[in-house]
Amino acid sequence: MFKIQDYIRDIQNFPKPGIVYKDITPLLQDPVAARKTTDALLETLGDVKVDKVVGIESRGFFFATLLAERLNAGFIPIRKPGKLPYETFSESYSLEYGEDVLEIHCDAIKPGEKVLLHDDVLATGGTAEAACKLIEKMGGEIVQCNFLMDLDFLKGKEKLKKYKVASLLTV
Ligand code: 5GP
Repeated sequence: MFKIQDYIRDIQNFPKPGIVYKDITPLLQDPVAARKTTDALLETLGDVKVDKVVGIESRGFFFATLLAERLNAGFIPIRKPGKLPYETFSESYSLEYGEDVLEIHCDAIKPGEKVLLHDDVLATGGTAEAACKLIEKMGGEIVQCNFLMDLDFLKGKEKLKKYKVASLLTV
């Protein structure tokens, strides 16, 4: 039986000492596992209309594009500052030390469009929350935020209380 946890490995002390990093590259290497993961994410969504799937740089891009193709929806990247070539809207958010910024193309979402947000990992929730703010500022309606994995002890879901949130794996 397919178990997503068999395709995600823990890397000790990456990218910094003391951090256990969840590496999803084994999942991407296996086409059957990647397809079953996409199926499972679609199952959490149910029969909901989606116009745009937004993926967060960079590991959110993989399954966001697969989901977009299956949902016959557009794919929209949200990226770190200076990476998107056209005009952007931006949103800053707090990190443990300092702050970071996310950007989206200014023509990516039209008012009233139904948006699915996807990222690989939900940790503290700051990244996903900033992405949701960007989408809503553009008039998008968030139908779900989904993740491969929720690092539950970091309580990211509390920042996304307004939204439907689904994760395939809770750690
Ligand atoms: P948050 O803003 O929720 O604290 O962090 C979530 C972001 O950091 C996501 O974009 C996610 O890709 C990345 N991230 C945090 N921890 C991990 C991890 O252990 N593994 C992976 N693959 N990404 C992580």
